[in-house]
Amino acid sequence: MPQGLTDYLNDLRAKRPDEFVVVKDEVDPAFGITMTVVKTEQEKKKRPVFLFEKVKGSAFPVLTNLHASRARLASAMGSPPKEMLKNYFAAMEKPVPPREVNTGPCKDVVLKDGQVNMLALPQIVHHQGDGGAYITAAISFAKHPDDGSWNCAYNRLMITGKDRTSVHLTLGKHLWEYYKIAEARGKPLEVAFAIGVHPAIALGALAIGSIDEDERAIMGALLHEPLELVRCETIDVLVPAHAEMILETEIVPHETVKEGPFGEFTGYSLGARQREVVKVKAITHRKGAYFHDITVGHLDHMLLSTVPMEANLYRAVRAMVPSVAAVRVPSPFTCFVSIEQRLKGQAKNAIMAVFGSDLYMKRVVVVDHDVDVFDDREVNWAIATRCQPDRDMVVVSGARGSDLDPSTAGEDGFTAKWGVDATAKPLLKDFTPRHSFPEAAWNAIDVAKLKL
Ligand code: MN
Repeated sequence: MPQGLTDYLNDLRAKRPDEFVVVKDEVDPAFGITMTVVKTEQEKKKRPVFLFEKVKGSAFPVLTNLHASRARLASAMGSPPKEMLKNYFAAMEKPVPPREVNTGPCKDVVLKDGQVNMLALPQIVHHQGDGGAYITAAISFAKHPDDGSWNCAYNRLMITGKDRTSVHLTLGKHLWEYYKIAEARGKPLEVAFAIGVHPAIALGALAIGSIDEDERAIMGALLHEPLELVRCETIDVLVPAHAEMILETEIVPHETVKEGPFGEFTGYSLGARQREVVKVKAITHRKGAYFHDITVGHLDHMLLSTVPMEANLYRAVRAMVPSVAAVRVPSPFTCFVSIEQRLKGQAKNAIMAVFGSDLYMKRVVVVDHDVDVFDDREVNWAIATRCQPDRDMVVVSGARGSDLDPSTAGEDGFTAKWGVDATAKPLLKDFTPRHSFPEAAWNAIDVAKLKL
């Protein structure tokens, strides 16, 4: 399918014009963009894509809230919403390697040396207390310093000068590992950031897997064709040819700067820390580029990351418990799993599989397949009626979790984790039966004729 953000938006505007709102009045990028999105959702119960045409202090229009709908994300993958998890899982199983091309729209305008000016970009401040203007839709593309494998991830960037940002590298994740290898040699790590991509590319960037798994090939599988890449001007990195904008950068070794505070997906504004420094060597962009913003900490952010997370967790649990029924990530650091438990102990194996496959997961609840994990009430019912905490809970102390979890304050993600086996013991078939009705009698009752 066509790989540009504007290709996707043209399709959306044609098929669902009410989901695309153009704001012509000038907006203040300090809070104005985020507040418009949040207030529209709260008061109008609507979650359209917003294009702010006039942004105070910048020539770039801002596009946001692109991912705040499961239907929009599904359509980006060419999938019905209900099939999204299955289709994402299929893309992980059958990746499509990328293809290098000579040029693309991201090269329409090339700004190097003295022309680089990060302060000319929209200076978006999302929430009160944020340490500065943040770029929230930047996807990193980087090459492993030794083995030539590639990594993509979302990394928040705080603009700190004309050619400088700070970067949040999640401690213990793949880009952080690349950086640590380069830094040990006193070398910068070359990284390009793509801002403004087709949502299938965004979903692929969030794939969770081993460090040698190439997210670019998952992007290709989600696009149903190889991702087209072009070479950067100032660094040896390949980037999506159809991106709206590319930042060509180096992460500087042995240097840190104050980063944050920043209101994150956890729902908290986390305090400032010393984090790595990014030097911007070039900015390239499409002529008339949209500056893409993710409305951080709200549905635009949460829905996008949940689909890849659930697909990976499903894959991991299935490797241990083939009869897994469903997996859901209902809130930060939390996972609900339902399994058709055929043998004693499989629930515990499911808990271990979740902890073994996702750094962020901190609490896992496993239920039987007769419990709907998409209904919080049912999950709570199972915990209350099928679980004895002294027998059925697992606590793992001193593990690594998210460095954005405020409950690990001061420890930056050094955390305990807990699993709850809320399956019936020893097995559902042997457990006290749920109440029910005789089937023939049930079918004989006709509520349609009642005057209600
Ligand atoms: Mn990776």
